[in-house]
Parts: sequence; C-alpha cells; structure tokens
Amino acid sequence: MKAPKFNYIKANSLQQTLELLDELGEEGRIIAGGQSLMPTLNMRLSQPNTLIDINGLQDLEGITLEGEIVKIGALTRHIDVAQSSIISKHLSLISKAMPHVAHVAVRNRGTIGGSIALADPAAEMPACALALGAIMVVESLKGRREITAEDFFKGLYETERKPNELLVEILIPVERPEDISVFMELAQRHGDFAMAGIACIAQVKDKTFKNLKLVYFGSEDKPTLAKKTIASMLGRTWSGDCCKTVTESLKEDLSPMTNLQGSSTMKLHLQNVLTGRVLRTALDRAETQ
Ligand SMILES: Cc1cc2nc3c(=O)[nH]c(=O)nc-3n(C[C@H](O)[C@H](O)[C@H](O)COP(=O)(O)OP(=O)(O)OC[C@H]3O[C@@H](n4cnc5c(N)ncnc54)[C@H](O)[C@@H]3O)c2cc1C
Repeated sequence: MKAPKFNYIKANSLQQTLELLDELGEEGRIIAGGQSLMPTLNMRLSQPNTLIDINGLQDLEGITLEGEIVKIGALTRHIDVAQSSIISKHLSLISKAMPHVAHVAVRNRGTIGGSIALADPAAEMPACALALGAIMVVESLKGRREITAEDFFKGLYETERKPNELLVEILIPVERPEDISVFMELAQRHGDFAMAGIACIAQVKDKTFKNLKLVYFGSEDKPTLAKKTIASMLGRTWSGDCCKTVTESLKEDLSPMTNLQGSSTMKLHLQNVLTGRVLRTALDRAETQ
C-alpha cells in the first residue's frame, strides 16, 4: 500500500518545529529516521495531516559527556550510538543492546529519539533507558521539562510527552565502575523485534547481588521493572532454589501480552528462562571484572 496524502514541512530551526507542533497538535507528526513512521503510513495505521521533518536540525544530533552525565541528542542515529566511544566506555548496557536493534540499514537511519518517543514495547532503547535511570528532555514553546524514564513510558506506544512537545535529548548517568551490565533478548531471527528480553544492571559483592535492576521488555506493554523479582534476589547468589523463587515472583511482576509473537504463557516462560541466564551471567562477569 501507499501512504495517504500528507503535507510535508522540512523544519529549519528548533523554534519553527515547536511552533508547528503547537499549531498542528495531533495533526502534526515529527519524522526523524522514518524507519517506524513510514511503514505505519504505508500500512495506513496512521494518517497525520502534516509531517515535520527534523533531519536538518543538527543541534539535536550528537553525544557528549558532561561530568557524570551522557547527553544524547534525540536525532542521533542508532549507528552513531553503536560506534560512540563515550557510549562504549560509560554506557556498556547500550553498547550491548545496539546490535539487537533491527538491521544495519535501519540502524543507519533510525534515531534513538525516534525509538524512545515511539515507545514500542519490544524496542531495546526504552528498556535500556529505564534500566540506566535516563531522563528524557522534551521542549515546547512553554519551555523544557525533564521526565524520568519511570514516568515517561506509560503504556503501549504511549508516553508522557505531549503532542506539542519535541523530545530533544536523553540524559543518562554514567555506569559506576562496580556496575555489571547484561543484555539478552529472544527474537525469532536476529534483528527482529524481541519476544522477550531483559536489560540488567547489577552490583555483586561476595558472589551475592548487592544492587539489581531487571527491566523486562518484549512481553509487557511497556518496559517493566520487576520489583518483586529484584527484591527476591538481593543479598543472594544464584542457586537451584532461585528457579522456583523467580518463577513465582515473575508471575506477580509481569503480565505478558498475547500477540502474533506468542502467547502470554509462552512469553512468561521465556522471560523466566532469560532471568536465570541473565543473573548467572552477571555473577560470572563479577568474577572477571
Ligand atoms: C524492518 C525493521 C525492523 C526493526 N527492528 C527493530 C528492533 O528490533 N528494535 C527496535 O528498537 N527498533 C526496530 N525497528 C525500528 C527502528 O529502530 C526505528 O528506527 C525506531 O523505532 C524509530 O526511529 P526513527 O528515527 O526511524 O523514528 P520515526 O520513524 O521517524 O518516528 C517514529 C515515531 O516517533 C516520533 N518521533 C521521532 N522523533 C521524535 C522526537 N525527537 N520527538 C518527538 N517525537 C518523535 C515520530 O513522530 C513517530 O511517531 C525496526 C524497523 C524496521 C523497519
């Protein structure tokens, strides 16, 4: 199918973009990499009146380290995130996740801001944002506001960003030297959206978990912090009886969606299996780090 008719405006400044968003409201739609938006237009799942192209706004691109915070411009392409030495040195979780984001051609055009603004429940970057305690910076004519990842992702393709706000940058605290990052997902083929996945940051002392963040994606309607499972593993190492504990706690933490990727029961099983793998990998890495 072909996209429905739409107006197209190539924005030449941030101010113009914000004015257009304010004027058009729900009728205006930002286009960044176009890797998700264009397929949805072609399939007529979305019919915005006007596309506002932000690809000329170079101020929205780039990655900088300011003190303990990594700032990533919303228009930064996945490929540039993947190749950044700042990211590989300070945000190893994102480096581990990036190869799972689609395929090279999509990563060449797709942007981190597009991925986070879209909030696809199976996308890798929203899960990493939540695990790393990222802050999303959105801007409108009224000014800027900062939204924590916990507040930003509200549900299926639903975020705290308002239609008149542009996501301008993502602020992420650097990982601490004692942090261990583990990223795992299960997809039908490498590069496909995940059926189940976990972004994990752990701190391990004397072979037990001192701190733990387990963010589940792919199965839920949004990236989800598994609070009961985390609590059940703190102060413990991985042993045979953890399987039962984790199986029980995940039933309370997660509520997987049944969709074309699989049933709720199957996804809960996959997340359960992944949890054991992720936790064992974190302990193994702690031995060698
Ligand atoms: C075949 C295929 C496989 C894929 N597999 C994966 C995968 O495994 N994992 C994954 O994470 N992604 C995957 N993607 C999606 C890809 O990562 C996209 O790049 C990403 O989801 C959206 O980024 P974009 O820059 O292309 O955004 P666009 O498609 O341009 O926009 C997406 C949405 O975000 C909005 N938006 C974009 N930028 C902003 C902004 N700065 N402020 C406010 N709103 C904004 C747009 O209005 C639109 O609603 C896949 C895509 C394809 C085509």
